[in-house]
Amino acid sequence: MTDMQALLAAEMAKLGNSYKARLPLELGELLALAGQLSGSDADHPVLEELHQRLHKLAGSGGTFGFHSLSEQSQQLELVTKSWINGEVLAYQTMLGGLIEKIAALSLTLSERDTSVAYKQGVMAVKTDVKSRNLLWLADDDEQLGLELQRLLKQFGYEVCLFTRLDQVEAATGSEQPDILIMDVMFAKEGMDATKEMNIRHNFKAFHCPILFISARGDFTVRVRAARLGARGFLVKPLDVPKLVDRIEQIMEAEKKAVYRVLIVDDDETLSTHYRLVLMSAGMEVEVLNQPEKIIERVSTFRPELVLMDLNMPEYTGQEVAIVIRQHEQWIGLPIIYLSAEADVDQQIKAMGKGADDFLIKPISDTRLVAAVTVRAARARQLSDLMSKDSLTGLLKHSGIKEAVEFELARAQRNGFSLCVVMIDIDHFKKVNDTYGHAEGDCVIMAVAHLLKQRLRKSDIVGRYGGEEFVAVLPECDAITAQQIMNDLRESFSALRFHHQSVDFGCTLSAGLVCNKQYPEASAGKLLVAADEAMYMAKQGGRNRVCVA
Ligand code: GH3
Ligand code: MG
Ligand code: MG
Repeated sequence: MTDMQALLAAEMAKLGNSYKARLPLELGELLALAGQLSGSDADHPVLEELHQRLHKLAGSGGTFGFHSLSEQSQQLELVTKSWINGEVLAYQTMLGGLIEKIAALSLTLSERDTSVAYKQGVMAVKTDVKSRNLLWLADDDEQLGLELQRLLKQFGYEVCLFTRLDQVEAATGSEQPDILIMDVMFAKEGMDATKEMNIRHNFKAFHCPILFISARGDFTVRVRAARLGARGFLVKPLDVPKLVDRIEQIMEAEKKAVYRVLIVDDDETLSTHYRLVLMSAGMEVEVLNQPEKIIERVSTFRPELVLMDLNMPEYTGQEVAIVIRQHEQWIGLPIIYLSAEADVDQQIKAMGKGADDFLIKPISDTRLVAAVTVRAARARQLSDLMSKDSLTGLLKHSGIKEAVEFELARAQRNGFSLCVVMIDIDHFKKVNDTYGHAEGDCVIMAVAHLLKQRLRKSDIVGRYGGEEFVAVLPECDAITAQQIMNDLRESFSALRFHHQSVDFGCTLSAGLVCNKQYPEASAGKLLVAADEAMYMAKQGGRNRVCVA
């Protein structure tokens, strides 16, 4: 168990125990409330309170392993509901029965299902967010291998070079790279990797995306590679930007997405439990117990999905959902009601009010994770489609502008510095005119990959225009940003692109601005300042970084 797993499991256990410890008190209060019922019109507020509390108990009991408490509370909840709705007239005759049943709830407390996840911390914690991108490169041509290693390092990858197939096999036991880039023919050993990897036991047990590179690309060898589950096959001489493009595609497909989920629920214990469960599945989760702060929280946290309780003391989940939908920018935000509401008609009615789905409490931890993952993944896919540029996978113009605004507001709130960088490829028209538009696209992609690889996870990059990019670097001062950009600029200028038999290079110019230099500036002003600095770089002879 990792530290994170142990921590979450301990927190869950603590939460479960404090829930259990509070139950007798809660049941005592329920009993006292029921004792106030007289069978007169004055009962209404008491019945409402009883109903609300039983409803909550029905939802939370199951989550913490008290299944019969949950079931019996739900039955009593229905009883009080029918009394509130006036469906049962002379209910005073039944008061005694209700009190007895509430008193009997305490008998269920000894029946606790200890197999639920929080007790054992069994949920797999997927917190292995990778900070490095490790490539294994296996090629018996050492010269070529070293050159490729150098170029790939410029893109920000860590590259481990092997020149013998046996070395690769030996290494499989101890470590695993993100991708294995494998030559096919190992002449000195007289081996064909696509054949050997199929026979040798160590390779069979090695689960890592493989990308083959080969001097020959005939059908037989390609099929053998495909049978090994290879994720790509590139024929030499290699075009490094294209190789990087393929690597990035594989990395992207392998990446575990971290979804942001907001839970809106007045029940603090239950919502904390849900938070821990979703966190242990690798999600980023925030809880909002006060629905009136919903817009503020959605704007700062930017969830990709909202789990909304239906019955809260002052507002219903539907009301909160409607308020969210009143804001145009949140119309597409998936809202899922999570409620102990068992009545299908009520569920359908609730869905009509701006929500996308309905989950019923109590819900098992595994079901909750599965349900949220599927919906969040779908939401992410749709939003990527709308917000990401198809050529580079970077944010589109409007998205990156929004990111500058968002990050500037965050920097101002927290008092840290932030840099905005404008990047433009030099003499790009000439690249298009000389080598064609497709080759130009390759150059654009190379800049995008460099930016993605070399900047930190917290930095945000967008394609601002055709061959213009904007990067936002939060918590970064001008000097650091300038260093980073200069390194990146140098790596880019060292790259070689191939068009037919011609070899060419490109350069870029960048302008950067730090918010500390312009404390009053808006996001728009910072972008203008970065653009002006970029223009200075062009005027100064291009292939340089200027600071506003
Ligand atoms: P400068 O050094 O001053 O920036 O010169 P430049 O030639 O790069 O000038 P400019 O920025 O005006 O040229 C941009 C060119 O980029 C014009 C346009 O045809 C080309 N372009 C825009 N979008 C794309 C694209 O998606 N793919 C390709 N291949 N070219 C594009
Ligand atoms: Mg240009
Ligand atoms: Mg331009």
